[in-house]
Amino acid sequence: MSELASPRALLGQETALQAFSAALATGRVAGSYLLHGPAGTGRTLGATLFANALLCERPKGLEPCRSCRACRRSATGTHPDLLVVAADTGPRFDDDADAARAGTDRFTRAARSAAKPGPRKTISVRVLRRLLEILSLASAHGGWKVAIIDAFDEVEEEGAALLLKTLEEAPPRTTFLLLSRGTDGVPDTILSRSQRVRFRPIPPATVRAIAAAHGGDAVRELPPSALDLLIRLAQGSPGRAIRAAQMGLIGMPADVLRTLGSATAPAEELLPWVRDAGKELESQRERVREALALGVVLCRDAWTSGGDSRLVALRTAFESLDANVPPEWVLRALWIRAARARSLTI
Ligand SMILES: [Zn+2]
Repeated sequence: MSELASPRALLGQETALQAFSAALATGRVAGSYLLHGPAGTGRTLGATLFANALLCERPKGLEPCRSCRACRRSATGTHPDLLVVAADTGPRFDDDADAARAGTDRFTRAARSAAKPGPRKTISVRVLRRLLEILSLASAHGGWKVAIIDAFDEVEEEGAALLLKTLEEAPPRTTFLLLSRGTDGVPDTILSRSQRVRFRPIPPATVRAIAAAHGGDAVRELPPSALDLLIRLAQGSPGRAIRAAQMGLIGMPADVLRTLGSATAPAEELLPWVRDAGKELESQRERVREALALGVVLCRDAWTSGGDSRLVALRTAFESLDANVPPEWVLRALWIRAARARSLTI
């Protein structure tokens, strides 16, 4: 059985810890919380800590007892009153009949961790509707019911309307923990009914400590200068640092990106690494997006030697990627633009 996380694991997010502790201490738990902040800053961990404590029969503040029936089920990710839906790994239904057959188990954390991780996608209305149906049933343990919904800023309008309807009816002892990157993509109607809990970028030293503790060999084996670069790329997100290290960004791709603007190392050198992400275009796009972000960090270092013109080329590449230009074309065009910009600068 895996051990339930301790609130001490949520480093650098004191505001969030205080908000959740206060709710537990006073018993004033909102019907909906919006945990907003950059990905990889502890939103999922924060939501899980809050959920575990709410479900526990004898919690001490945010610390679950770890021995009651609820805690035992939470630890195995099979608590029937904790429903988790993630945009990247959430349950996928082939049709409505399939959705109807799906029980609570499809929404538990155990089901989620068994799914293949990948870059985020949109939560479908069908998944959300099924989640709300299950939540409308009585609590299995007779206590709280908690739904953690990731990437809520990318939910479809119809999905947001469904949730709003549920929030307006305020089902008893039910709370929604909505995760989003910011508040911009969340409809005002949901915002006004949710307590906002902000997750801030984490200070570099703490990012480094978390990445070292949880990043495995991918982070541990990096030389100090590469680790510095990784921490700067992460911009306060330990999760981002770990993912970038695991995709091998700070090795060969970083070396190739350093030559951006010269014609000696063409974009082609990066393409095998991009394809290595898998056939899914979204996975390849994720790699290119992080490579472009690293390019920006490296260009800022080299500001005096034409870094500014390469930054313009990188910005154009970001725009192309967001406009769904195939990742490989984006890289090829970037190299051509950066070389042209450089030749004009010199
Ligand atoms: Zn307990």
